[in-house]
Amino acid sequence: MQLTITGYSTALFSTWYFIEEWGILFDAGEGLISSLLQKSRKIDQVFISHADRDHITGLLQLNQLNARPGFPVIHYPKDSDSFRALEKFSKLFDPHVSRTVWTPVTEGDEIPIAKDLLVKPIRNSHVPVEQHIIKSLGYQVIQTRKKLRPEYASLSGEELRQLAERQGRDSFSMEVRTNLLAYSGDTPVEDGAKWDNTKILIHEATFLGNGEDIKVRTFGNKHSNLEEVMEMVSTLHIEQLILGHFSSRYSPEEITIAVKDLCEKYAINIPVRLILPGETVHDLLGRNPVNL
Ligand SMILES: [Zn+2]
Repeated sequence: MQLTITGYSTALFSTWYFIEEWGILFDAGEGLISSLLQKSRKIDQVFISHADRDHITGLLQLNQLNARPGFPVIHYPKDSDSFRALEKFSKLFDPHVSRTVWTPVTEGDEIPIAKDLLVKPIRNSHVPVEQHIIKSLGYQVIQTRKKLRPEYASLSGEELRQLAERQGRDSFSMEVRTNLLAYSGDTPVEDGAKWDNTKILIHEATFLGNGEDIKVRTFGNKHSNLEEVMEMVSTLHIEQLILGHFSSRYSPEEITIAVKDLCEKYAINIPVRLILPGETVHDLLGRNPVNL
């Protein structure tokens, strides 16, 4: 699986990640279009984690330049009223983008993005609301493949063909799911089980120290602390880690050293790559890991 991930993610200012091969965008902070230029036309589906302005202000320009009938499809947490206001405004302000589709999503949904790929929203506690209210989400991209059930493994191609004619293919095949990539959105560190067995995890790590700052916690929303993220990652089966959403109070050197130290402390041997404050990274996975 070769993925080209381009992104920007600095706490308070802007966050977006574009996965080129899948035509999907996680969050839509400003700078998205001016960085991606023509490539932004490849964005078919947008998955927004929450309504903080630094995650959505690129939407107007994305729509303005790229809207075509039925696309892009903008998915947002279902109880976030900001998106209904933004949809209304966008359609009034730029009538030609009225074909953009705005879709509320919630935990339990499965959104197909290709024949064998779907996206599942995953609730998090960034916005403190009651459990049944959905205002902040992460997302998991899952590959679904049909595989022969083991009890049919001995049948020949011809026998399977006949069986398929008689009973349909579903009678001897089963679905196998693989978690290819997960995006945490803005979130405190929570039960790591929801990210376990994922090939690539993109997680936020706003703070280096423990609960040290209130300023970035706009409206009391909750964020992750780097050490808690690394401790969680050390217990998970994942293949690659991308860390972003660092606060701009930290220098690139401070962040890099802190990540390297924690990789040692928690014996993390998978590649760890960073999006540092203020930088737009093209082809994140092509970048050298900081820890290997
Ligand atoms: Zn944020």
